[in-house]
Amino acid sequence: MDSKIYLNAFERSPDGIIICDLDAKIILTNKAASHIFGYEVGELEGKSIQDLIPPHLRDKHKFHFRSFVSHPSARSMSNNMKLVGYRKDASNVSISIALNIIQNDSGEELILAVIREITEFVRKNEELEKVSDQLKEALQLSRLGHWEFDIANDKILWSHEVYEIFELEQGTFSSTMDGFEMLVHEEDREFVKQSYQNSITSQIPYNIVHRYITPKGSLKFLRERGRHIYDSEGLVVKTVGTVQDVTEVQKQRLLLNDYILKLESKNKELEDYTHIATHDLQEPVNNIRGIISLMIEELDNNSPTREEIIYFIDLIKKASERLSTLIKGLMETARLGQIDPISEVDCNELLVEVIEGFQFQINNSSAKINYPPLPTLKGYRFELSLLFQNLISNGLKYSKKGVVPVIKIDCHNQGADWLFTVEDNGIGIDPVHKDKLFKMFRRLHAQDDIEGTGIGLVQCKKIVEQHNGAIWFESEPGKGTVFYFTLRKNNN
Ligand code: ADP
Repeated sequence: MDSKIYLNAFERSPDGIIICDLDAKIILTNKAASHIFGYEVGELEGKSIQDLIPPHLRDKHKFHFRSFVSHPSARSMSNNMKLVGYRKDASNVSISIALNIIQNDSGEELILAVIREITEFVRKNEELEKVSDQLKEALQLSRLGHWEFDIANDKILWSHEVYEIFELEQGTFSSTMDGFEMLVHEEDREFVKQSYQNSITSQIPYNIVHRYITPKGSLKFLRERGRHIYDSEGLVVKTVGTVQDVTEVQKQRLLLNDYILKLESKNKELEDYTHIATHDLQEPVNNIRGIISLMIEELDNNSPTREEIIYFIDLIKKASERLSTLIKGLMETARLGQIDPISEVDCNELLVEVIEGFQFQINNSSAKINYPPLPTLKGYRFELSLLFQNLISNGLKYSKKGVVPVIKIDCHNQGADWLFTVEDNGIGIDPVHKDKLFKMFRRLHAQDDIEGTGIGLVQCKKIVEQHNGAIWFESEPGKGTVFYFTLRKNNN
């Protein structure tokens, strides 16, 4: 073959080539070798191989060199040996070396060394090792699962913790990106794919929570964190990451949101009560004040009789009793939800007790109360009893003159809720008052016509909401009223 080709191959080899004699004297080097060690072309010839070894390793190298010379054979020293060369400027360079024995024309044995600079490889490797160490540490600290995604080969590696988190047997996972995506909750799949892509494009590590249904059917929330490893051309080659079961944290977060909502509603309630205390409760107080000043006036000017004084005192007594009833009602409403713990409540038993309490009114008016077998639900017993009590009481109280009150209670299954109806054949309500009547002290009747406090429906609304439900009514004046309310079957 053309010797020019040999020469060219030698000169242009991207790997450095050094030929030395058995005394370690350099005989020939190519351009790449001079470049790796920071010398001018030809400058290395005549120097010793020892000059290319960091000073503190030279003794060790001498020993290895001798042992190679005594048992010469082709060998390569792998990247893992972390070999370093010594450059002209006294800096170190990471290299890999392959050795062989060759002969010159006169049969003299020479050593051929092929040297490759692997600085970038070593840097990447160190980076990987660092990431891997950090991950191992993190895994130990927080019981994380560790995974790696080899993009070129579409291969995902899971640590055994990941299998534990996903509740899968080792080897049952198909280990590809598609396989992983199929595990993600179907409503989160697009989001997971998108987040991964975005993170590659933006080169920002990703950190997401997605849902996962275990083989046993329970819902888990999993936090996935991942960072990408890029090659020298900026192409992503690998993603390394962790997965952590954050179901408990997520549950706590939902609970916290729930508390915040409850707190906000309590605040609103408090504001309402402040308004009530300053406005509505002032009314009976002003009433009492008015009666007292009238009485004083009478005492000063007209020397009222004993009967007249008793009349005034009776008015004050009635006004203060009403004030006391309102305050009691207000306090009872404030305490709703804190009286009883949640328990299984049989609505049939509950209604028997409630209706017993109305025996006097029922006997007087011959009223009828009908209801089919009712369900048992999980809720606050005292409050549920008050709910039925208030609605039945109104059905009896707001009846039409000369008409026997008939109250029909019914219940329908609505999935997670029960829908109850309490229907009467009473005087009815103009629907314009739909919202107003669920507010504190709002009434449509003068106290002298029909007694009441305007607290009953407020309590009903609060109780229903404490059972995750809603309350409303349909009515027309003169045509009776139907109250509807829903109660969650299983309140916690
Ligand atoms: P109270 O009965 O003490 O006035 P509620 O809060 O129970 O207080 O009711 C508020 C108002 O709603 C009542 O004053 C009444 O005007 C009207 N109302 C409630 N229930 C009925 C009903 N079943 N039929 C007619 N009107 C009703």
